[in-house]
Amino acid sequence: MTHRAQGYDVIIAGGGLAGRSLAYFLSREPDLAGARILIIDDAGDRYPHRSLIYWHDNALPLPLSPAATFTSLAVDAGPAQRVLPLTRHRLCLTSSRPVFRCLDDVIDANPHITRLDGHVSRVRAHADSVEVVLSDGRLFTASHCFDSTVPPGGIKAPLLMSGEVRRVRTTHDVFDPSIATFIDFRSGEHNPVHFHCVLPVTAREAVVEVTRITRGQVPSPEFSFEQATSAYLRQVWGVNEFSSVSVERGSIPLGVRPGSARGRHVRIGSPSGAVKATTGYGFTRVLRQAQHIASTLASTGSPHTPRPSPRFRWYDRPVLKMWEHDPDHAVQFMRSAFASGDADLVLDFLDERTSFAQERSLFTAMPVTTLLQPRLWI
Ligand SMILES: Cc1cc2nc3c(=O)[nH]c(=O)nc-3n(C[C@H](O)[C@H](O)[C@H](O)COP(=O)(O)OP(=O)(O)OC[C@H]3O[C@@H](n4cnc5c(N)ncnc54)[C@H](O)[C@@H]3O)c2cc1C
Repeated sequence: MTHRAQGYDVIIAGGGLAGRSLAYFLSREPDLAGARILIIDDAGDRYPHRSLIYWHDNALPLPLSPAATFTSLAVDAGPAQRVLPLTRHRLCLTSSRPVFRCLDDVIDANPHITRLDGHVSRVRAHADSVEVVLSDGRLFTASHCFDSTVPPGGIKAPLLMSGEVRRVRTTHDVFDPSIATFIDFRSGEHNPVHFHCVLPVTAREAVVEVTRITRGQVPSPEFSFEQATSAYLRQVWGVNEFSSVSVERGSIPLGVRPGSARGRHVRIGSPSGAVKATTGYGFTRVLRQAQHIASTLASTGSPHTPRPSPRFRWYDRPVLKMWEHDPDHAVQFMRSAFASGDADLVLDFLDERTSFAQERSLFTAMPVTTLLQPRLWI
């Protein structure tokens, strides 16, 4: 059954992080006041709430109060750990609940935004409009559609980062709440690539994340994240006894190719490649993408989607090949990344915000073979 089309200025297909962030930034553009915006999402209350780790070096464009903020990073630098101060950045822990609350406060106060529970089945771009069809036949038109829905064939990616985030409570003081342990390979098991991050909330409570990178798009069912975390806490932290306050599981496709805009149909969020291809971090990248699209739409009438720089895509390719073909090499590479001792520089690099000169100084601190060997696999 088809329905008569209902018209909007902007349709946002997918109301997760990218869709809501865009609605938030559009609402804050005075030149777009009065623009009729439709958000279509099929998750409702089933959206999987998740812990979010992010870093920033100046004010985040959202008024967020993180659950924990860290001023130092403990990094795995080979046989020993090093604690590196963060001078410009802060590493933060929050969760999607307060983030969505903050976005929804602004979205729900905008009388020109309509939210709709529905499943988008097709988006068709024309020269001066775009048509969005739902699986129940409802049809909507708009000047632009910003789309973070999963494409019909799924998100194509060579690798899958799957993991578990467990909030643990110990019986005695174990953690230093000012230090986050970032990408720790000391579990001893690297094949496939496997590491932990520890974000203390108090001396006796921490968020422990275990991450595994495997080929293909399905996590291996036989692997126990719970056992991996228990073994890591025992072997590396000397914690034999802990209770679990909460557990979250999820996976992120790694190496998603940036999608190109088809006229007025613009991909945003994960399907657009906004999540960093090699690390799975996407929170601040999605916010920056949404802010940029909203401001260019407001100032020029034509949205501009920031594209990843070819230089960083060139850097990402060998790292993805390392994750895929040579986990031991990948571990060596990640350990050497912090050899410069400048944690701020590494975070800038992961954010794709370094200059060529800064990248040269970062690479100079790494063994040459670590950099060159992966390019042979391409
Ligand atoms: C488990 C997990 C943990 C992560 N942790 C971090 C982290 O700690 N730090 C960090 O920086 N990044 C993290 N990320 C990466 C990134 O921040 C998230 O993936 C982010 O949610 C991407 O936003 P998005 O809007 O593209 O996708 P989502 O937030 O998943 O939103 C997509 C929305 O579209 C809806 N949808 C999909 N298809 C349709 C359809 N056909 N019709 C209607 N609606 C549809 C979905 O139901 C969903 O609500 C994580 C990702 C995952 C998956």
